[in-house]
Amino acid sequence: MTADATKILLSESEMPRRWYNIVPDLPSPPPPPLHPGTLQPVGPDDLAPLFPMALIEQEVTAERYVDIPDEVQEVYRLWRPSPLYRAHRLEKALGTPAKIFYKYEGVSPAGSHKPNTAVPQAYYNAAAGVRRLTTETGAGQWGTALAFASAQFGLECEIWQVRASYDQKPYRKIMIETFGGTIHPSPSELTEAGRRVLAADPDSPGSLGIAISEAVEVAAQHADTNYALGSVLNHVLLHQTVIGEEAIAQLAKVGATPDVIVGCTGGGSNFAGLAFPFLREKLAGTMNPVIRAVEPASCPSLTQGKYAYDFGDTAGMTPLMKMHTLGHDFIPDPIHAGGLRYHGMSPLISHVYELGLIEAVAKNQKECFEAGVTFARSEGIIPAPEPTHALAACIEEALRCKESGEEKVILTALCGHGHLDLAAYGRYLAGDMVDHELSADAVAAAMAGLPKVPA
Ligand SMILES: *Cc1c(COP(=O)(O)O)cnc(C)c1O
Repeated sequence: MTADATKILLSESEMPRRWYNIVPDLPSPPPPPLHPGTLQPVGPDDLAPLFPMALIEQEVTAERYVDIPDEVQEVYRLWRPSPLYRAHRLEKALGTPAKIFYKYEGVSPAGSHKPNTAVPQAYYNAAAGVRRLTTETGAGQWGTALAFASAQFGLECEIWQVRASYDQKPYRKIMIETFGGTIHPSPSELTEAGRRVLAADPDSPGSLGIAISEAVEVAAQHADTNYALGSVLNHVLLHQTVIGEEAIAQLAKVGATPDVIVGCTGGGSNFAGLAFPFLREKLAGTMNPVIRAVEPASCPSLTQGKYAYDFGDTAGMTPLMKMHTLGHDFIPDPIHAGGLRYHGMSPLISHVYELGLIEAVAKNQKECFEAGVTFARSEGIIPAPEPTHALAACIEEALRCKESGEEKVILTALCGHGHLDLAAYGRYLAGDMVDHELSADAVAAAMAGLPKVPA
């Protein structure tokens, strides 16, 4: 196969057998999560009410590789290995000499990368005798993925969906219910955390932070119920590395090496999944790509947040994590990329950013949807609103190459399709989409609520 191939596939036998953990390859380990009461590093016992021991071990493992259980690989084979495409038609539309490749995760049952971690999380919980999983979901992709994965392993699945997305995207709810899950809008009257928010603001659009508080509260109160998180945590990023491992094998088939890797970041899992295996190669000196995270201008945790210990949720129930954060009280504007509306960034991505191993930029949603439409018209796939952020940065880079004549190899993760986000495209096409100005006052107010942790 040459670099001119359009669709680069792997066979099932070439599927990665192990997930990659970047921590032992970094010059220093990320700061540990802290117990909010004692401010001491959290131990396995602190996490045991929420997670099975196998996932707690993966959260802190010092091993470079973790074997993927056979039962998980069997489910992965429903859609993995996922295709890598060369975007010939987009390159032509842009008139760029750059070679653009995209790894497409929209072929999964949920239409995004989320099942890559939902499946192992459901597997390890079922193996530990858990009966029910609770979780939050923003745009609904994670809820869909966990409902699907729960059905594979006979678990019940109860989901709190951010109200703004619950109202904007009714089809996600139907999809979740079709997979057998139960779904509530968040904030809800079902939990202490939800009732507290509703008392202060009955019209709250919700946020991922609030929905996490609700799901964690219910899991913490029931012995047969665990909680599952779709991003941010180390074990989630670990599971997503199948994306990058496959992409390395696929690019090798066509003899290409990336000069630039761009991905969108909400909590950071699809970005890490693509980028970390390449970062391993960069640290080993076998390639030298620039690695760039793209976040929404309305929720710019990496580019404008502070690197500080903060809660993962709004009610302050999770351990304190050192991460780039806008403050756990920050409620982002209801942009259409619901999956990117999170106040913090994964501690591991934040650490890698602090080490100077990756770059970050922020993009407004109109520029992103314009990129999404350009991509759809050339490549024939309507991207989810989240990866349009990566596409906007990818197109920007490709146009720079057009100016300079450089034939760079650009790689991006097309981490989901937008078939259930068509209302957002409708608004964009009708000219009704707005760019929200980030309110400096709202950020300052949320930053004031950061927990006080002595350095
Ligand atoms: C959830 C989601 C995101 C954001 O989560 P990350 O952990 O940052 O990947 C981005 N894109 C899609 C399609 C999603 O479903």
